[in-house]
Amino acid sequence: MDLYEYQGRELFSRHGLPVLDGGVASTPEEARAIAERLGGRVVVKAQVKTGGRGKAGGVKLAESVDEAVARATEILGMDIKGHTVHKVMLTVTADIAEEYYLSYLLDRANRTFLCIASVAGGMEIEQVAEETPEKVAKVAIDATVGVDEAKAREIVEAAGFPLEVRDQVVAIAVKLWHAFVTEDATLVEVNPLAKTPDGRVLCLDAKVTLDDNAAIRHPDHEAMVDRSAVDPLEQRAKEKDLNYVKLDGEVGVIGNGAGLVMSTLDVVAYAGEEYGGVRPANFLDIGGGASAAVMANGLEIVLADPSVKSVFVNVFGGITACDEVANGILQALQLLADRGEEVTKPLVVRLDGNNAEAGRAILDGAANPLVQRVDTMDGAAKRAAELAAGK
Ligand code: GDP
Ligand code: MN
Repeated sequence: MDLYEYQGRELFSRHGLPVLDGGVASTPEEARAIAERLGGRVVVKAQVKTGGRGKAGGVKLAESVDEAVARATEILGMDIKGHTVHKVMLTVTADIAEEYYLSYLLDRANRTFLCIASVAGGMEIEQVAEETPEKVAKVAIDATVGVDEAKAREIVEAAGFPLEVRDQVVAIAVKLWHAFVTEDATLVEVNPLAKTPDGRVLCLDAKVTLDDNAAIRHPDHEAMVDRSAVDPLEQRAKEKDLNYVKLDGEVGVIGNGAGLVMSTLDVVAYAGEEYGGVRPANFLDIGGGASAAVMANGLEIVLADPSVKSVFVNVFGGITACDEVANGILQALQLLADRGEEVTKPLVVRLDGNNAEAGRAILDGAANPLVQRVDTMDGAAKRAAELAAGK
């Protein structure tokens, strides 16, 4: 789960990191109350789960309470890279002399944790890394040791932080690591980590991703979930224990096994190019022992997506044989009809693997006009894309 900046800032604050006083507002009135409490000279920041808000006009300085309210009013409701701004954060304005960058993340490729640090902060680190890679220090962190003072000194030296801020940055690096580990984060990023003209170092932005697999250890994290931002279909799928991810296309995808479903997304997108860019509408892995009930739940979710025009059911029979899956599909269609959710969108079914012949015979025997059988993955993807394109 990605946190909003204001949530990340609170988390930083709990772990003793230097952040400035502030508050979060959903309305201009709430913004006014916060700006008054903070004394008027504030930064107003759009709270959206995407970066580059500054460039997009979502971060504005104000010199007075009235100006803060005006900026908040402008930013609330703004669209930043497809995210509507529902909240703004107001903080005391820091004067900035220098902007640095500091982050910890899970480096999956190298099976380790990684610290990225740079004295060229403020802008996007990807850009700095591309244009001036020598300005970006990458230091691997041994998970069994973590970041103690010695490691923090190594980071600070590798990045070339100015001598006068080194002690402060070392203390921040140690605390930030502590926050990263105790909260089970997979990313903590401070950009900018800023030096003020009087020499203080402050965390002026907070980007945090928490590891959902560790949610069981953090009952307090639940409160940070933004229900309004969760896709309603993903929410329903979660309640039914389905591994579903909503995508933007038109072909609903159901498969068994994450790897198979991922490659199904690829072949659908590839086949769809021929039909004006038809794309997969979702990821849905119904797992190994896909029963009729699970298939019905899966179909229900996928068909509830209004952008879905056709569904591609791609099953490779393993422990669950194809004849069981075929029966599952037919029962699922019956089950949905019984629930009053008659299916009207075409289904392309590809069955292969264990008992494929028996499974195909069952589908043929049922002769459901909505179900089309295609026996190769590429062929089925092409047919599903074709149907989605209305051909
Ligand atoms: P992002 O663009 O989404 O990463 O949002 P940031 O929170 O990093 O803000 C973007 C930029 O706004 C920063 O790089 C700063 O230059 C500026 N900014 C943010 N907070 C302050 C502040 O307290 N004082 C000043 N002077 N500038 C700020
Ligand atoms: Mn930033």
